[in-house]
Amino acid sequence: MKVASVVLSNSTRKFDKEYDYIIPENLINEVSEGIRVIVPFGNSNRSVEGYVFKLKDTDETDKLKSIKKVVDKSPVLNEDMINLVRWMKDRYVCCYKDAIRCMIPPGTGADSKTKVKEKIVKNAFLNITIPEALELVEGDTIKKIQQIRVIELLMENDYIPVSDLVRFSGVSRSVMETLSKKGYIEFKDIETNREPNAGKIYESSEPMLVNSEQDNVLKELIKSFEKNKFEEFLIHGVTGSGKTEIYMQMIKHCCDAGKQSIVLVPEISLTPQMIERFKGRFGSRVAVIHSKLSLGERFDQWRLIRDGKVDIAVGARSAVFAPFDNLGLIIIDEEHENTYKSEITPKYHAKEIAKERLKSKNGILIYGSATPSVETYYYSKNGDIKLQEMNFRVNKMNMPAVKTIDMRKELENGNRSMFSDNLITEIRKNIDEKQQTILFLNKRGSASFVLCRACGLVMRCPNCNISLTYHSHNERLICHYCGFTVKNPKACPKCGSNYIKHFGTGTQKVEEEIKKQFPDASVIRMDLDTTTGKNSHEEILTSFKKDNINILIGTQMIAKGLDFPNVTLVGILAADSMLNTGDFRASERTFQLITQVSGRAGRGKIPGRVIIQTYNDGDFSINAACGNDYRSFYETEISLREKLAYPPFTNIAIIIVSGIDDKAAYDLSVEIKNEISDKFKTDEDSDVLGPARSPLSKIKNKYRWRIVLKCSDKDRIISIFENVSKTFEKKSRTSKVAFSMDINPVNML
Ligand code: ADP
Ligand code: ZN
Ligand code: ZN
Repeated sequence: MKVASVVLSNSTRKFDKEYDYIIPENLINEVSEGIRVIVPFGNSNRSVEGYVFKLKDTDETDKLKSIKKVVDKSPVLNEDMINLVRWMKDRYVCCYKDAIRCMIPPGTGADSKTKVKEKIVKNAFLNITIPEALELVEGDTIKKIQQIRVIELLMENDYIPVSDLVRFSGVSRSVMETLSKKGYIEFKDIETNREPNAGKIYESSEPMLVNSEQDNVLKELIKSFEKNKFEEFLIHGVTGSGKTEIYMQMIKHCCDAGKQSIVLVPEISLTPQMIERFKGRFGSRVAVIHSKLSLGERFDQWRLIRDGKVDIAVGARSAVFAPFDNLGLIIIDEEHENTYKSEITPKYHAKEIAKERLKSKNGILIYGSATPSVETYYYSKNGDIKLQEMNFRVNKMNMPAVKTIDMRKELENGNRSMFSDNLITEIRKNIDEKQQTILFLNKRGSASFVLCRACGLVMRCPNCNISLTYHSHNERLICHYCGFTVKNPKACPKCGSNYIKHFGTGTQKVEEEIKKQFPDASVIRMDLDTTTGKNSHEEILTSFKKDNINILIGTQMIAKGLDFPNVTLVGILAADSMLNTGDFRASERTFQLITQVSGRAGRGKIPGRVIIQTYNDGDFSINAACGNDYRSFYETEISLREKLAYPPFTNIAIIIVSGIDDKAAYDLSVEIKNEISDKFKTDEDSDVLGPARSPLSKIKNKYRWRIVLKCSDKDRIISIFENVSKTFEKKSRTSKVAFSMDINPVNML
């Protein structure tokens, strides 16, 4: 007898397993793997929704209940997705529903409030032949001008949505009803796609003749692809070396082999420019997925993928779940970006998902970056990733001239403003010569650190060598890693100056100051505040270019992907705020950001200049970035990581315990810590720290306590997580204290 193994759509951890149900005779043709069904559950046999994960034959059906109903017309999860759900459940110690939520678009799942469905639109079409229609119109049978307009429009189009007819012809629905009664036209409900860029025409592009550097890389990639075996590549290539062109040629190769590809880009790089390039090359074979699509639009893009109507998906992190069934290639561009790590449950990294999917499909995985993450580069030197380097820009354009300004000297010379004299002079020059300037301000990690503006000293943790974070409520400085704390100093412990205070400026303040300094200049600002609308990102950039605005002020958002030939000057206002985010990756981020922001200058004919303002002009990451020298940065950084035992030499895991009741949260965190200490034998290779108050000690009225684990064996951490999850699941519910766990989080807060 056939039975289905079913996972409940919305269950607590306790019921989070696969249950067998009999498939009744009348549903035998409708039930398939990956489809949703309604089943009776529990003593009361209430109806609940679930996913069929497996069909199997068995004779032991005595105690089994039967499926009541089938929800979907076609499966919402394919076989690959079902396997991936099972894998994620183990790897991220999450529930089935958490993993499933990643794979189906919002609105489809059972637990979501808004249901999105295929969009069915009422369309009108002619019920008569064209000659007949012509005769009606010309032969005076129809006299009313409004009716004639409808018939004329329908003669030119097979179908038109009634709502469009109303909009374009200006006639009312009753006119159409009249025509329909006379039998001239008819209505039909048709399923349509909400195409986010409907009507937009993309300039088509052909594959370019590759240069020799590109050719070498492509040959390696193709050779690997033909082997039909899982392999990982890192393309480390300077910006403008032609990586994207390589991606596109590999995708074509993959398509020609009848397989599908996914391209991941950071959300902020999903600029119209990027979308245009892929749409221009591959047209309607591409689905595009990003967070600014409406629910309906996202649902439709997902459906195109599921139904095999496209073979390429371009998108941000979540696109790694594009439900293809014959995946051959995944490209992760700007692989070093934070945005590939999910910060909500399940806390997956897109790289791990990509790897898991391609392993089972024997596909290839390509990471691309001009500034690879230290971990990826390390594995390309000492691991399974194959390294491909590209050192030249396609158009032989030179890298911009980079200069650092020591802000301590500015203060010494009596300049207390946030702009150095040098930067002011250069901006003035750019305004006069009608060239554009970008001013960049780091906002990542809103943490604020304490810096002496006289001598450049930054307050650091003596144990972790990481900048301490300033907390205004108790005037103390705290280490995000070990919990070390110290009182905020009144005078600099090194030079005794009073110019020691916490550091941090907003883009708005910069804008005000710039307008004061340069009343004649046009200024535009781009940050989270100014880009909340659906197209505002695009509008700001379009205006910057089209109106030749003098100065663009912005945060991380403007760091990459933008190509404005008339930008010849880039100012980086507080390089120190990148160096002191209280994160062990601070130097890495600094190197990456300076490199990327600098890359915005001098993309046209006129060479670019970059000015970096800092209180720490001897820092190795700033110096390496100025010299465009990734390798020297890497060598210094990797030896520091090894010395201080940070990734890739170990894994850092955190458990956050949070609740409205501070005491209850603390108590549970102590219990969890003790449980771990009992089972987890620490040695020189591993450690448990805490519980200590989390740096973000209270969010939405919940107090947060944190336990930190260090261990080079990831599997060991996963098994600890599993154990914690099992042991404290019930207690967490009864005491209303939640806990969440993460391995190698992108921030430690
Ligand atoms: P990256 O992704 O490494 O920044 P791109 O692929 O965007 O580099 O290439 C930079 C520029 O050079 C783009 O305008 C691209 O169209 C152009 N380009 C890339 N490859 C070639 C080539 N082989 N011949 C001519 N132009 C190219
Ligand atoms: Zn000092
Ligand atoms: Zn510390």
